[in-house]
Amino acid sequence: MTILRIALPIPKRQLFDYSYQGPAPELGCRVQVPFGSRTLVGIVWEVAEKSQWPEDKLKAVSKLLDNKAVFNPTQLKLCQWLASYYKHPIGDVVQTALPVALRKGGPNQQKLAQYWCLTEHGKNIELSELSRAPKQQTLIEALRHRSIEKSQANQDFGQAVSKALSTKGLIVLEDKSYEDGEPWSAQIKISEKPQANVQQALAISRIEASIGEFATFLLEGVTGSGKTEVYLQAIESVLLRGQQVLILVPEIGLTPQTVYRFKHRFGIKVGVLHSALTDNERLEVWQQSALGQLGLIIGTRSAIFTPMLKPGLLIVDEEHDSSYKQQDGLRYHARDLAVMRAHTENIPLVLGTATPALETLNNALNGKYQHLQLPVRAGDATMARQQVFDIRQQPLEFGLAKGMLDRTALHLKQGSQVMLFINRRGYAPALVCHSCGHVEQCHSCNKPFTLHLSLYKLQCHHCAAAKGIPKRCANCQSSELGSQGVGTEQLEQGLAEYFPNYQSVRIDSDTTRGKNKLDTMLNQINNNEFQLLIGTQILSKGHHFPNVTLVIILDVDGALFSADYRAADHLAQLITQLAGRAGRAQKPGEMWLQTHDPAHPLLQDLINNGYGHFARYALLERQHANLPPYSFQALFKAQALSARDAHEFLQQVADYFTGAEGVMCLGPIPALMEKRQGQYRMQLLLQSNQRGLLQQALNQHISSVEALPLATKVRWSLDVDPQDFS
Ligand code: ADP
Ligand code: ZN
Ligand code: ZN
Repeated sequence: MTILRIALPIPKRQLFDYSYQGPAPELGCRVQVPFGSRTLVGIVWEVAEKSQWPEDKLKAVSKLLDNKAVFNPTQLKLCQWLASYYKHPIGDVVQTALPVALRKGGPNQQKLAQYWCLTEHGKNIELSELSRAPKQQTLIEALRHRSIEKSQANQDFGQAVSKALSTKGLIVLEDKSYEDGEPWSAQIKISEKPQANVQQALAISRIEASIGEFATFLLEGVTGSGKTEVYLQAIESVLLRGQQVLILVPEIGLTPQTVYRFKHRFGIKVGVLHSALTDNERLEVWQQSALGQLGLIIGTRSAIFTPMLKPGLLIVDEEHDSSYKQQDGLRYHARDLAVMRAHTENIPLVLGTATPALETLNNALNGKYQHLQLPVRAGDATMARQQVFDIRQQPLEFGLAKGMLDRTALHLKQGSQVMLFINRRGYAPALVCHSCGHVEQCHSCNKPFTLHLSLYKLQCHHCAAAKGIPKRCANCQSSELGSQGVGTEQLEQGLAEYFPNYQSVRIDSDTTRGKNKLDTMLNQINNNEFQLLIGTQILSKGHHFPNVTLVIILDVDGALFSADYRAADHLAQLITQLAGRAGRAQKPGEMWLQTHDPAHPLLQDLINNGYGHFARYALLERQHANLPPYSFQALFKAQALSARDAHEFLQQVADYFTGAEGVMCLGPIPALMEKRQGQYRMQLLLQSNQRGLLQQALNQHISSVEALPLATKVRWSLDVDPQDFS
């Protein structure tokens, strides 16, 4: 009898044995199996001849769903690595890696695609008859060479064009398999490109020299230094060899503009993976990539799981971005997984950024990664001059000092745009009673409600709780309720009143929800429809604002005095990214940082010596404090309705790890955010100077932790290489 060991979507760190009649299927095929009273879809992970369970106790596989594995050998290996490195249940790893449509057991057969083809009439028509519709003419001309897939025709020509031609009876849709269409490798048409400068040329040739082998590059280039151009020229070499390229971008960097730049250069269809796709759209891109039908795939974090038939190159753009780390379930870091993937597939990986994460910089400095640097600007952008603005003893109006309002007026008068950055959405972070000082709090989180005047609501930013704005204080019934602190909404309103002759726009997660909304706003900004740009960090990512000559960051103190040791790095990255995105050579910009601590050494180092210097110094500090990347951490988190249960559970976990070789155990202590959604939250931090020792200790004890009676009573998780301590 054949025993199949199945990875099932069950939160247990184990495989499940089932008996199977017939020849063993390929590893990585999906099966349907009975589990208790349910039927689950799982993946064949191992084949064995014997089970540790008595044969008559084994249930049988009810159905084999695939005759060809849904995971290729690389993916099987990466899932195995994820489960083992993050100590995560393999069944859940597999779920994360698989498109939703396949998780549910749906078929993995590729559907036929619709292609535009010429009718007899279309084949014979004189092109001059269409001279008044040049786009239609071009499409007909293109169709004389080959039929074109519907979605691609929409991307390239616009929907109206094909519709018009089909109404005229010149073209018609036919169902075809992708395999019958012309392959992308035959469609590549390189459009005009700039001549690489010396540093770019060096970087490109180093990457090209590694095609076909594993290598990791840190491409450290100031904003606007031409990193994307380096990607494009390296990609060109890979595509021309018939190999595929996968590009990861941060959550909010994936705008139509980004995609257009890649599409336009090579003239081929780009597979795009982002969170707004339907399950079926996602599956299509996954299948096309797996079958080698796409040359270029661009996506956010989870796109790293997309299989490629002929992998050639991996790129992680803005590699420092925190959206690459998943913060729930399988807490993987897509950048680290990219390194593993490049290694497994034996291909080069390029990590590009102006502000490398300290972990990455350290690997480049110690020679583990090859370090490519672009120290100067390629285009005509320029770095804004950075200065601190002392706001001690200064009255603030909607968060701004008078001096800053004056500077804003000056720049507006010169016809420039001004960007104001504040990391808090809503009108104000609290509603306070003037009579007794009572603050309206979310009872589930013990944190003040944020006031949203435009919605006329109080909202908790830590859970979904919301309620109307009270007229009277809940404590003393006074009607003198006032807001405290400033958010984007208040800043926008204040500026609109102060500068009635200028238009303002607010860019935060409240105003950019919805498809292409952010892209529309960015276009309007570039068309100078707005002069005052108010926003949160969404503004710092991947967009250039050539007409912005003044950038003001309202509050940097929060990050300087944060309990999170990474907060200062993140602030430095933000400041540097913002400074690099404003202005151009003829119109250099200035940037002001409002602070109560103008002499702060970190701030001074950053604005005088730049991010590169700051980051190298920050690394020294990390070394002295023995913090990552010089030590390795794993964080157990637990939450429960009773603080005692959470604490007790982590105490029992701590008992296992106390005394483990080379591992330090800190806690349990309350999380920075002690209560959230009604649950009390505690943490236990493990730290070691050697990754191997930490892994060894985790391997040794994770099953015991999982088996603790309290483990089913509290909600707990393990985060290896944690980024988030909140
Ligand atoms: P980054 O990705 O580092 O922000 P980009 O690749 O977007 O930089 O380049 C910034 C600008 O400079 C773009 O407009 C780009 O077209 C232009 N550029 C890049 N490389 C060159 C070059 N070698 N010569 C001229 N312009 C260039
Ligand atoms: Zn009161
Ligand atoms: Zn709450």
